[in-house]
Amino acid sequence: MTKHIFITGGVVSSLGKGLTAAALGMLLENRGLNVRMQKLDPYLNVDPGNMSPFQHGEVYVLDDGTETDLDLGHYERFTSGPLTKYSSLTCGKIYRNVLRRERRGKYLGKTVQVVPHITNEIKRAVRRVRSSSVDVVITEIGGTVGDIEGLPFLEAIRQFALDVGRQNCIFIHLTLIPYMKSSNELKTKPTQHSVSRLRQIGIQPDMLICRTEQPISSNERNKIALYCSLRQEDVIEEKDAEFSIYEVPLALHQNGLDRQIVNRFWKERKDIIEPDLSAWVDILDRVKNPQHEITIAVVGKYVKHKDAYKSIYESLDHAGIKNRAKLKVLRISSDDFDDASQEGITRSLHGVNGILVPGGFGDRGIEGIIAAVRFARENNIPFLGICLGMQCSVIEFARNAAGLSDAHSSEFAPDSPHPVITLMDEQRNITDKGGTMRLGSQPAVLNPQSWAFECYKQENITERHRHRYEFNNDYRQRLQESGLRIAGTSPDGKLVEIVEVPEHPWFVGVQFHPEFKTKPTCPHPLFDRFIAAAVRQKNVIG
Ligand code: GLN
Repeated sequence: MTKHIFITGGVVSSLGKGLTAAALGMLLENRGLNVRMQKLDPYLNVDPGNMSPFQHGEVYVLDDGTETDLDLGHYERFTSGPLTKYSSLTCGKIYRNVLRRERRGKYLGKTVQVVPHITNEIKRAVRRVRSSSVDVVITEIGGTVGDIEGLPFLEAIRQFALDVGRQNCIFIHLTLIPYMKSSNELKTKPTQHSVSRLRQIGIQPDMLICRTEQPISSNERNKIALYCSLRQEDVIEEKDAEFSIYEVPLALHQNGLDRQIVNRFWKERKDIIEPDLSAWVDILDRVKNPQHEITIAVVGKYVKHKDAYKSIYESLDHAGIKNRAKLKVLRISSDDFDDASQEGITRSLHGVNGILVPGGFGDRGIEGIIAAVRFARENNIPFLGICLGMQCSVIEFARNAAGLSDAHSSEFAPDSPHPVITLMDEQRNITDKGGTMRLGSQPAVLNPQSWAFECYKQENITERHRHRYEFNNDYRQRLQESGLRIAGTSPDGKLVEIVEVPEHPWFVGVQFHPEFKTKPTCPHPLFDRFIAAAVRQKNVIG
């Protein structure tokens, strides 16, 4: 029978619920259990696809093309169970489903209400991810207990525990124990209040995970346990990581999180092993003992928001770990050199060992990005362009290496005489912006004479996409004759997926998003080779 763990958050937002949930998933998977992760978000957008990265951070994309919250990225980086459209639901999507059913007359004339109709829909969403082979579903509830928006979700999970049996559910509340410098004390009161809020709606948490700056003493643990009606061993400390987020799962294991869960759910099962965390210990060792130190510039539109390129930064970290390189990541906003003066760019990018241009939408900052690409190409600095980054590298190459000085993308210059990046024909008449992109996992075939092939070591790959515009085939021959290498296409050869500049130490642009397929234990080969090239560049330059 599938068990359920529900994770709620209390006191403040941004406690790292996603990371904690993912770390728990990893620990349970390592014990041989079949785990599924799920996120329920209380906001009303149907999905984050149309939300600004400045508001919401990165939009993460799944294989099936679902556009999700960035926490799903943590889940995929830490665990291996498949994620699908059922793994990520917003309140907006839940309401949409209910309203659609209402329009079809499925409620037989009844008044449609939050309880039971919305709550039933939420419960249905949770049930969808269970199956006879799944041991445990971990469902993270977005937001903070006490938010108006979160109430239907909390009510639904309360009911869910009654439906499947209380013994089959664990409620974990992630909370903050603030440290007061002036009195040198940890304060437990906000946690007590948050738990009492949960109790008012009928949920008694089974465990607390306490985010804290300072270690929690046994006195404090006693107090928290007593006031929150818990056993001491169910109050788990999660101290701020000192070096890296990869300390989190190791610390949670040490503090008994997975042991307590196994004891509650599977006391009788003899096949549940102790987790083997050696790969994670090795990762931490590599983080703490690097052999190289390099600087990577990320030149992008949304670098000012700390989470807008979350998966890019994580992918760089993973590749740094693999290459034993400590990375200094310079986040450079392309807006800052929109005048595209080569002098400004030279100043900002001087001395970097690699340049990465991530994805983005709209024309703000584009000339700055193109200038940064030019700087990388002309100065032999390892370059990785992703989606918009690839498109800008094609524009730059067309302008400065193929003599098409007014080349552009029709996204930014609809009347450009040389639209080297353009919309696919079938997309030209679409006006509704929801779900009109090329989204999700798509196959590609690699040119065996390419860096891409060297990375993947195979001809057929699949990668995730999220874009509308494409390389314009009318310019394929001209750009190839000028020295651009087409390193990968769609299997029918019609869509260019990867471009490279062979007259360069390492210059690769990809139309897809490799950052959505990387794990600390298995970095994406493109990031791995990009960082390796940057290490080589540093060693050559000295
Ligand atoms: N704006 C570009 C497009 O729509 C690139 C998108 C991206 O970088 N994800 O094709």
